[in-house]
Amino acid sequence: MPRDELPERLRMEVSRLIRDTKLSREVKAIHDNTCQICGYRLELSTETTYAEGHHLQPLGQDHSGPDVKENIICVCPNCHVKLDFRAFRITPGMLRLKDGHTVAQRFIDYHNNQVDQRLEAAADSANRR
Ligand SMILES: [Zn+2]
Repeated sequence: MPRDELPERLRMEVSRLIRDTKLSREVKAIHDNTCQICGYRLELSTETTYAEGHHLQPLGQDHSGPDVKENIICVCPNCHVKLDFRAFRITPGMLRLKDGHTVAQRFIDYHNNQVDQRLEAAADSANRR
């Protein structure tokens, strides 16, 4: 193929740190690795399923969220990426709940506030164009 017919490539690097803490593993066990957002349960083989724990108020310096079960939800990788990108707000009734695991409203509020900030920043930069 001539060089000018090669498709353009876009190099992207995304860094995602998934901390699989003890509490995150507990939450995933309670939900049997079923996504609390979309209900999907990723089967890797007949005996292996996979899910990720998402901290609604992230751990680490910028957010200082606590590593407590009330701050963690069990999600599939797709929903996890969308949550990390703050792609959607978590609305009442959206989360699939199980006995033995409650999600604190203040951490849902924290997430939703982050979504709102991202949307406001995007609207600001669109208005400046
Ligand atoms: Zn999901």
